[in-house]
Amino acid sequence: MIPAAFDYARPTSLDEALVLLARGAGNAKVLAGGQSLLPLMRLRLASPGQLIDIGRIAELRTIRDLGGGATGIGALATYRDVLDSELATRNHPILATAIPMIGDVQVRNRGTLAGSIAHADPASDLPAILLALEGTLVIRSGNGERVVAVEGFFQGAFATDLGQDEILTEIRLPATPDGAGMAYRAIEQPASGYSMVGVAAVIGRVGDSIGYARIAITGAGNVAYRAMAVEAALLGSDGGAAAIEAAAAHATDGQVVGSDFNADAEYRTAMAQVYTRRAVEAALAAID
Ligand SMILES: Cc1cc2nc3c(=O)[nH]c(=O)nc-3n(C[C@H](O)[C@H](O)[C@H](O)COP(=O)(O)OP(=O)(O)OC[C@H]3O[C@@H](n4cnc5c(N)ncnc54)[C@H](O)[C@@H]3O)c2cc1C
Repeated sequence: MIPAAFDYARPTSLDEALVLLARGAGNAKVLAGGQSLLPLMRLRLASPGQLIDIGRIAELRTIRDLGGGATGIGALATYRDVLDSELATRNHPILATAIPMIGDVQVRNRGTLAGSIAHADPASDLPAILLALEGTLVIRSGNGERVVAVEGFFQGAFATDLGQDEILTEIRLPATPDGAGMAYRAIEQPASGYSMVGVAAVIGRVGDSIGYARIAITGAGNVAYRAMAVEAALLGSDGGAAAIEAAAAHATDGQVVGSDFNADAEYRTAMAQVYTRRAVEAALAAID
């Protein structure tokens, strides 16, 4: 299908983009890599009156060292840019193993991490990864800047804390504990490649016990979430097969698990447990 008619603007600075967005009064939308927005427009599931193409704003195309093992990923950094970044993949090795599972080469060459987060598809992979890494988001509007945790940013399927006049400018990933192992495991819908359930795990040991655990799950509910009950069950355990199995049984505690044509709630619940176990095992195996 052909999209509905729209106006197009290509600002060259963030300030200019913010002015245009505010002027658009909810009828304008930011365009980054276009990998989610343009398909929606072609299907006429989205019909913005104006596209504000931020693709030429050089200040947003950065991946920077925030010191001490922390990384800043600018809004225009594509999946490919992050995969090619020695800094980002050294600080957060989960990015190097998880990103190749997202989409295909074209999607990874054009799609941005910030665009994925702003789009908030409940089946997208990145929300779980950023939750497990305890990321924060830098958000700008004409009124200034705010920094929010990824946790709490997702408010529902395709719904976030982002206002209509705001642009997500940077994803910040703090340092993880020394030697922590991290892994992402997902069961993908065979045709689309989107995750029916995806689990990110960041695990650290203190002596013989698990002393640090961040587990986050996407695809099971209508927003990605931290699986706090799994984390609590892992902490202080020996990380053996029985402890992992027992912890993984809590993968969907407190969640309303969704059903759709890909998988019903019972199957998703079972897969959340299986993939939690696999992600935790892989993260433990990756500990330095
Ligand atoms: C064939 C295909 C396969 C895919 N497979 C997967 C997959 O396996 N896993 C997965 O997770 N994803 C998958 N995706 C989705 C894709 O990863 C993301 O949706 C994409 O990276 C979004 O980024 P973008 O830069 O293209 O955003 P755009 O499409 O340009 O924008 C998406 C939305 O975010 C808003 N937006 C973008 N940037 C900003 C910003 N900086 N500030 C505020 N709002 C912003 C836009 O206004 C729009 O509403 C797939 C997409 C395609 C087309």
